[in-house]
Amino acid sequence: HAKQNGRARWMMFDQTMQEGALRRLTLEAELRLALDANQLFLQYQPIITPGDGMISGFEALLRWRHPVLGMISPLEFIPVAEEVGLIGQIGSWVLEAACLQLREWQRGRALPLSMSVNVSAVQLAGGELVKVVTRVLAETGIAHGSLKLELTESAVMADADHALAVFKELKALGVRLSLDDFGTGYSSLSHLRRLPIDTLKIDRSFVSAMDSHSDKRQIAEVVVMLARTLGLDVVAEGVETRAELDILREMGSDFVQGYFYFRPLDAAAATLALADEAS
Ligand code: C2E
Ligand code: MG
Ligand code: MG
Ligand code: MG
Repeated sequence: HAKQNGRARWMMFDQTMQEGALRRLTLEAELRLALDANQLFLQYQPIITPGDGMISGFEALLRWRHPVLGMISPLEFIPVAEEVGLIGQIGSWVLEAACLQLREWQRGRALPLSMSVNVSAVQLAGGELVKVVTRVLAETGIAHGSLKLELTESAVMADADHALAVFKELKALGVRLSLDDFGTGYSSLSHLRRLPIDTLKIDRSFVSAMDSHSDKRQIAEVVVMLARTLGLDVVAEGVETRAELDILREMGSDFVQGYFYFRPLDAAAATLALADEAS
C-alpha cells in the first residue's frame, strides 16, 4: 500500500514537472512571435515625490498578453528571453517604446518628467547596450537626462568592472542610472562608491509591512543614509500603505512608488493621471 502511495506521489510530481517544462517550451517558442504579434506592451507606474504627491516620472513595466495563457509576468518571461537570446531585441523595443511615450507626455508640459527603463543583466553583459541607447536617444529626441536606466544590484555586482566601464559610457551620454532591488544583492561598498550612479531603489521586500518589522525599517534607513553619504537619490518601491509612506517620508526618501498611489497603468490611464494633476 505504502509503495502504491509513493508511486502516486511520484507520478503527480512527474506530471507537475512535465506541465512546467511544457509551459516553458511554449513560452520559448511563442515569445519569438509575441513582439511581431503585438502581444507585448508596456504599463507605466508613476514615481511620486512624497512631499507634494506629484508625479515626477514613470517606470515602464513590460507585459505579455498571451492569446491562450493570458497575462504572463515579466518575472517568468524575461528569464526565458534572456536564455533564448531574445532579450536584446525585446529590450530595444522596450527602450524605444518608453522613450516615444515620454516624448508624447513631455510635449506641452512645463515640468520635466522622467522615464525609468529596466535593463537586464544579459543586456548589460552584452556589447550592444550603449549603441542601442545612443540610437534611441537620437531617434526620439528626448532630453538625455530624462531617461533613467534601472539595473539590479546583483546584475551590476556580478561583474562590477564591466558595469563600471559601461556606466561611464552611459553617463557620458547624459542618461541617469539606478540600482534596482537594492539591499537584496551583495554590494561591495568600494564598488558602489566608484560607480557613477544617481539613484538607489530600496527593494519592495524592505518596504512591505515595514511599520511592523523594525528590521526592515532599519535596513531601509541604512540605505537612505548610504544614499545621502554617496550623494544619491533614493526611491522606495512597493509602498502600499499610509503607514509605510509616513515612515519613508520621515526617513527622507526622495521618491516613492507603489500601489498606495498607483498600480502600473496602461498608457491611456497614465495619460489621464497626468492630466488630472494638471487640472
Ligand atoms: P522591478 O523593476 O523591481 O519593478 C517593480 C515591480 O514591483 C513591478 O512588478 C511592479 O508592478 C511591482 N510593484 C510596484 N509597486 C508595488 C506595490 O505596491 N505592491 C506590489 N506587490 N508590487 C508592486 P512587475 O511589473 O511584475 O515586474 C517585475 C520585474 O520584472 C521588475 O521588477 C523587473 O525586474 C522586471 N521587468 C519588468 N519590465 C521589464 C523590462 O522591460 N525589462 C526587463 N529587463 N525587466 C523588466
Ligand atoms: Mg525596476
Ligand atoms: Mg525594483
Ligand atoms: Mg523589485
